[in-house]
Amino acid sequence: MGTEKLVLIGNGMAGVRTIEEILERNSTKYEVTIIGEEPYTNYNRIMLSNVLQKKMTVDEIITNPMQWYIDNGIRLVHHDPAVRLDTENKQVTTASGTCIAYDKCIIATGSRAFILPIEGAQLQGVVGFRTIDDTLQMIEQAKNCKRAVVIGGGLLGLEAAKGLIDQGMEVTVIHLEKWLMETQLNEQAGQLLKKDLEQQGIKFLMEKKTARILGTTKVEAIAFSDGSILEADLVVMSVGIRPVTGIAIEAGLHVERGIVVDDFMATSAEGVYAVGECAQHNHMVYGLVAPLYEQGKVLADVLTDGETEGYRGSTVSTSLKVSGCDLFSAGIIHEQDDIKSIEAYNGLANSYKKLFIQNNKVVGIVLYGDTSEENRYYKMLRDGVDITTLNAVTLLASAGGEASMSVAEWDDADTVCGCNGVTKGTIVQAITTQNLTSVAEVSRCTKAGNSCGKCKSDIGELLAHVIGDKVTTAPTGICACTHLSRDEIVLQIHQKGLTTTKEVFQELNFRNAEGCSKCRPAINFYLHVTFPKEHIDEKESRFVNERMHGNIQNDGRFSVIPRMRGGKTTPQQLLKIAQVADKYQVPLVKITGSQRIGLYGVKKEDLPDIWEELDMTSASAYAKAVRSVKTCVGANFCRFGTQDSMGLGIKLEERFEYIDTPHKFKMGVSACPRSCVESGVKDFGVIGLENGFQIYIGGNGGTEVKEAQLLTTVVTEQEVIDLCGAMLQYYRKTGIYAERTAPWIERLGFDHVKSVLLDPVQCKSLLEELDEAVAGKRNDPWTAVRVNENKEKELYTVGRG
Ligand SMILES: Cc1cc2nc3c(=O)[nH]c(=O)nc-3n(C[C@H](O)[C@H](O)[C@H](O)COP(=O)(O)OP(=O)(O)OC[C@H]3O[C@@H](n4cnc5c(N)ncnc54)[C@H](O)[C@@H]3O)c2cc1C
Ligand code: SF4
Repeated sequence: MGTEKLVLIGNGMAGVRTIEEILERNSTKYEVTIIGEEPYTNYNRIMLSNVLQKKMTVDEIITNPMQWYIDNGIRLVHHDPAVRLDTENKQVTTASGTCIAYDKCIIATGSRAFILPIEGAQLQGVVGFRTIDDTLQMIEQAKNCKRAVVIGGGLLGLEAAKGLIDQGMEVTVIHLEKWLMETQLNEQAGQLLKKDLEQQGIKFLMEKKTARILGTTKVEAIAFSDGSILEADLVVMSVGIRPVTGIAIEAGLHVERGIVVDDFMATSAEGVYAVGECAQHNHMVYGLVAPLYEQGKVLADVLTDGETEGYRGSTVSTSLKVSGCDLFSAGIIHEQDDIKSIEAYNGLANSYKKLFIQNNKVVGIVLYGDTSEENRYYKMLRDGVDITTLNAVTLLASAGGEASMSVAEWDDADTVCGCNGVTKGTIVQAITTQNLTSVAEVSRCTKAGNSCGKCKSDIGELLAHVIGDKVTTAPTGICACTHLSRDEIVLQIHQKGLTTTKEVFQELNFRNAEGCSKCRPAINFYLHVTFPKEHIDEKESRFVNERMHGNIQNDGRFSVIPRMRGGKTTPQQLLKIAQVADKYQVPLVKITGSQRIGLYGVKKEDLPDIWEELDMTSASAYAKAVRSVKTCVGANFCRFGTQDSMGLGIKLEERFEYIDTPHKFKMGVSACPRSCVESGVKDFGVIGLENGFQIYIGGNGGTEVKEAQLLTTVVTEQEVIDLCGAMLQYYRKTGIYAERTAPWIERLGFDHVKSVLLDPVQCKSLLEELDEAVAGKRNDPWTAVRVNENKEKELYTVGRG
């Protein structure tokens, strides 16, 4: 144990990170005491937004549990704020009267949410958004109340608003300014953001000033300066933060907005340092973790007698943790005499970019909608790259070339995790020297990815780049039969050469030797993808619809939906369908949502005969497989069509039909940007342009509607078909069974999927794999039933005469 006493006031993000850095440099130099006001051990405050948005639990955001303090010999004075700092006698006193002596003291008391000093601000139901307790209070309120008002349309206010929507409340955001996040965004980007948030259900009252909060004991309404009133049960104040400096002021330290520190984080009192949101360096008080962690590193060097050039201030960047609203902002984002800007707006993709240039260098960035190039621009800004050789087009180019440079191509010195300042070189070294195989392990060893989490997809890409398919994910069992994750199971299937579900259950010690209805179809699929040639499909491991090759209806009868590629049919097909429907007295004939004709209410025992008489192939309308391709009439008949959408749709369908995928895979081809086919909500959507095709991926209808994202624009039909094949195979290889493409892309990271599909080498090899996997295995299931009497009897004999 150390000889010198180090006391940290504030058990938050910057302070504890400083202690971690100190322990890494010298774990025996100090006897450490941490004084914490909150009743929790150190947690990731940033992730409170995810807790409110129901993406994480409170447990999951605890970064250092009690055991960490014990393991590192740290005394934690818990839930007991420091109330006095005596710099003469070098001791800190807490609210409970505990006196702790120090040789060195770090103040890291952070900030508090600023509560507007208006009438009613003290009423029950008025909260800030800063702590676990604030968050739990909001979650509790949401259980009993309906109407929430968030005052402040900045980063935190909007994350709170989205969280309250996800908690089931009706939410109105009140903002004083003309557009949202006015410090980080310019007007156009702010308006796009507002539109997207409105679509997620948030209401806005802009340029409104709150005058009073009304109510007797609890919040009842808000009164505005223009005399109008809005009813509310919960008011979240998110109008800014104020550094917590009381204890420093009383101790006589030099305090302005924050506790004034020099380049070595030293305050005006000997032996007392400050880091984090409570500190003011060179007139700046920072409110994001990246600069605070930089401060922590410097202070750790100082306190362990390491070499340091000191802290020189930070360039900050911002993004918003609300899915569906991708934005990035950094640097100076307002034009001045010597700062000019260039911008691009893509109305179709709802994306906007603006770069601010001074002396041929990028000094500010605003991106909205498409943030795929944030790293490229941020590197330019951070490194002061001279852009004289780039013109407006090459600078703003959004696809291909430098723009889509993958993290694998970055320099070792480039920063992957901005929050924690971790470079690519550090991550690659950790992966290779410590045999890391998952993003979680990389985060644990390097700290990359464990703050805002935005760089996790880059880390995943680096892992894949360095160790290929040895990448694993955190163990989250696929069902109650096993604790093994999908990736672990697939890995073992590979390594142990397992070829049947039974072998998997046995060899991998599944609790249930027969598996269950959840894991049986999943394992069958993983076996099929892993050993496409050797694996014999186990019909009994398939869901009933797939076993019967028809969708079972709510009365136990089935649907029959023949294939009509690209939605195109012929009079002969129509006649046949009509005759069959009439002969078997099919109760419902319906045009489906995917441009086919469905016969509904067919008796099980009639299925084989109906298929025989139809003499058409099955549209796989029941399968976790490639479904149909929806097309518009396109250039052949429509005034606006620029491409042969039907032709391309049919080609896509012919090329990929009957291929098994983790979940259903739907496609659409529109011949022009009017997108009559709604290509923007298809797993693979194509929109024809004058001279090519835009490709959108990951759009899902269904229970969770997701908009597809623009993958790229290509010129030829063959490129469309190839990208589709590559996506299908990558989805097959990495998708979790029953995971649709939108969550799949979210899990892997859009940028990662994009980089794989747009890499010609990877794309080619995926296509080869797909071809090999499906060779000779793509028969119409009904043809097989019709030629196999046994199968027919076994499955369809009920009452058949
Ligand atoms: C909801 C939310 C979302 C955020 N999202 C992002 C994001 O996406 N990206 C980003 O970079 N930043 C984000 N931030 C900001 C980030 O969390 C802060 O910049 C960071 O937590 C500041 O670290 P700190 O240690 O200075 O303060 P804190 O983490 O606030 O820690 C200070 C601690 O000191 C304690 N304390 C105060 N006074 C005393 C006392 N007298 N005695 C003992 N303890 C005391 C406080 O209770 C607190 O626990 C977010 C913040 C919030 C609230
Ligand atoms: S998408 Fe274009 S071509 Fe197709 S029907 Fe609509 S307008 Fe016509």
